[in-house]
Amino acid sequence: MQREYTDAIRASGEALLSVINQILDFSRIEHGNLEFERAPLDFAACLQSVVEMNRHQTTNRPLELRLELGSGLPAKVLGDATRLRQILVNLVANAVKFTERGEVVLRAEPMEANANGDRRVLFTVRDTGIGIPADRMDRLFQPFSQVDASTTRRYGGTGLGLAITRRLVHLLGGQVRVNSRPCNGSSFEVELPFGDMNSAVADPSQVETWPAGDESVARRFPLRILLVEDNLVNQRVAQLLLKKLGYAPDFAVNGEEALAAVARDRHDLVFMGVQMPVMDGHEAARRLCAAYSPQNRPWIMAMTANALEGDRAACLAAGMDDYISKPVRLTVLAEAIAQACAGLRARREG
Ligand code: ADP
Repeated sequence: MQREYTDAIRASGEALLSVINQILDFSRIEHGNLEFERAPLDFAACLQSVVEMNRHQTTNRPLELRLELGSGLPAKVLGDATRLRQILVNLVANAVKFTERGEVVLRAEPMEANANGDRRVLFTVRDTGIGIPADRMDRLFQPFSQVDASTTRRYGGTGLGLAITRRLVHLLGGQVRVNSRPCNGSSFEVELPFGDMNSAVADPSQVETWPAGDESVARRFPLRILLVEDNLVNQRVAQLLLKKLGYAPDFAVNGEEALAAVARDRHDLVFMGVQMPVMDGHEAARRLCAAYSPQNRPWIMAMTANALEGDRAACLAAGMDDYISKPVRLTVLAEAIAQACAGLRARREG
């Protein structure tokens, strides 16, 4: 019985967190407080991670979730991987949510370059789900709108996902369209421009497939993780998210405990809170850098609520390797772990 209560509490906590994240995103977009990155972006890896983020929702249904890469897709482009992932995760999550059986396919294919010479890519998310009535299509991308109250009761949601998606797509200079018929599934198309990196072409056979089903990110990136956080709620949220990715982290509640834990268990990755009693995250990072050579020290990821540029700089100056802001999202966490793995590998190989 107690277990049922705690499961229910956990589920509502997670649902609430996702609502809060969506509202925060929406208000950042509305206030123009959003910055976009233009960095090398690996399509195959990014899209595969989108699919894998949603895999766990499909395991209890006769539903196939797959990725298709069209031929001629560039291997790497310049763009914002986090925003691309956010856009596609919204669409794939909806497709999975509203499809009881059949398939959900995420497809990417190259389009003609635009007038600025930017490469354009067409992403399609199609499903064999409940579909959307024609008279509801125009309201679909409005904030807080859902097709009808009965679907909300049945499937949950805030009605913000598509509004965020459309705004992000527009801010990135792209377009989004939808085709759907009730009972015949839906197909969302997103067209986005990317900067040209090189002329290499992605080879679909080279895509590293992520483990399917309940296997997880942790199998792919086996890491000993330490979570340093004094606030119990934040600790719990981070723990739940890490658990979803298959990790069972160790904990410390301040910098001093963190140093002792790393000395004992040699963690690969430390998620480091910043403001903590006894010893704060900056001091702990400085000491870790002093105590271990780059090959031997853990990857230190600052985790803070202060999303300002200056805070980020202060964390990096203290010797931390990377930075994520709270509230942490699952996709961001998975991406940060993949980055940490690549960073550790590069450092250890000298
Ligand atoms: P929500 O958080 O409610 O899912 P969205 O803005 O993402 O909010 O979606 C708004 C509504 O659009 C959903 O509640 C649902 O009624 C409808 N919808 C979105 N995607 C699909 C889909 N793939 N199939 C059927 N209906 C969809």
